Amino acid sequence: MTAIPIVNFDLVRALRDGRPLLWVRPGTARTIDESPFTLEHIRQARARFDRCAPLLAALFPELAKTAGTIESPLLPAPAMQATLRLPETMGRLWIKADHDLPVAGSIKARGGVHEVLEFAESLALRHGLVQPGQDYRALAAPLARACFSRYRVAVGSTGNLGLAIGVVAAALGFQASVHMSADAKTWKKARLRAHGVTVIEHDGDYENAVAAGRARVQADPNGYFVDDERSSSLFLGYAAAALHLHDQLQSADITVDAAHPLFVYLPCGVGGAPGGITFGLKTIFGPHVHCFFAEPTQSPCFLVRMMAAFGQLPNAPASPSVYDVGLNNRTEADGLAVPRASELAAAVMATRLDGVYTVADDTLFADVARLHDREGMDIEPSAAAGFSGPGQLCMTPAGQAYLESRGLAQAMRAATHLVWTTGGRFVPPEEFDHFLSRGRSSAAYT
Ligand SMILES: *Cc1c(COP(=O)(O)O)cnc(C)c1O
Repeated sequence: MTAIPIVNFDLVRALRDGRPLLWVRPGTARTIDESPFTLEHIRQARARFDRCAPLLAALFPELAKTAGTIESPLLPAPAMQATLRLPETMGRLWIKADHDLPVAGSIKARGGVHEVLEFAESLALRHGLVQPGQDYRALAAPLARACFSRYRVAVGSTGNLGLAIGVVAAALGFQASVHMSADAKTWKKARLRAHGVTVIEHDGDYENAVAAGRARVQADPNGYFVDDERSSSLFLGYAAAALHLHDQLQSADITVDAAHPLFVYLPCGVGGAPGGITFGLKTIFGPHVHCFFAEPTQSPCFLVRMMAAFGQLPNAPASPSVYDVGLNNRTEADGLAVPRASELAAAVMATRLDGVYTVADDTLFADVARLHDREGMDIEPSAAAGFSGPGQLCMTPAGQAYLESRGLAQAMRAATHLVWTTGGRFVPPEEFDHFLSRGRSSAAYT
């Protein structure tokens, strides 16, 4: 880390005023490992998905055609690129379509499903329901279900993590409870209840819901809490996406090296999903991948955490919340409405993340509408945060300074900009119509 913190007062003012901004991590990217994880851990997560694929195919008919693999396509987005006015001299726009992930309908299908599988696997091995190397479809047999039904899997969530954990836990026969924050959408609660999941509603924000869930499960000897603020299993489930993306880029003939930089734009809530994916991508592509988190202007918890880590937030506590800088954590991007970053993700990102930018809610809705109108893809507002990234990087002074400082200006024509769309598949049509009309009437819609 840099020795002398330099406070950029213009940036701090924009942050406090809730104006969109780009923050770049001071110092050049380091490859020194300060993370508790390695490539081997990422491979183990991928291997768990692979050996559980037949089980998942048996539990979820929608996975029959992929034989139990939960993955999303990598798609070119030329019409959206034109709409965003990103010139071809700055590279090409692609979308990693996690909004269309089966089972959970969001990026939570990665981390959330991985953690429930890991818990089920550990119970099954402990109770002799399956031996290592055997067919894991035994975990869907009556004997296993009877065992799992004695345990309760719980989670605190703004919505999407609850959907992933609740649906998979219930499908395996676990009792499942989801502690929801006040900002959770009604349709997400209804969908969970329809799957037999207990939904417990809490006043207050995501942090409260997690704390309440954690406390309740600690008192239950057969309870297992998926802890979004601390879990390694979630983090590594997300990280496994990097191995698959590596193969997809190769199949699409996209090179990633010094002359062909890859820029990845990831919507960030608590930081687990974008942090895990960034960790995976940096482990594979080293300095040739540039990862940026996207947060709502009123909920930039990861930005605040990073600025504090680099001494750039005067008088901030070590682990600040967005309330500490006078923001209100109010956003329609429910998947990103998190007041304080995960310490696990913050520790791993402090030496890896390239930057964070913020997005106004109006822009999120405009990008939902533009993506629908230009590319025919339907996403939720949280999932649209990535689309401001290429503009922040290529068309603002702060972004251009980053490109200059990394010696990238000459390579941009051969760059790939990858926007990670993180959720939307199960948004009800009437809800989506409301997103569209708000987006089309926004000043940011062109
Ligand atoms: C959860 C979520 C994110 C961010 O993941 P975190 O682990 O909370 O940072 C982004 N987009 C959507 C749609 C999500 O549901």
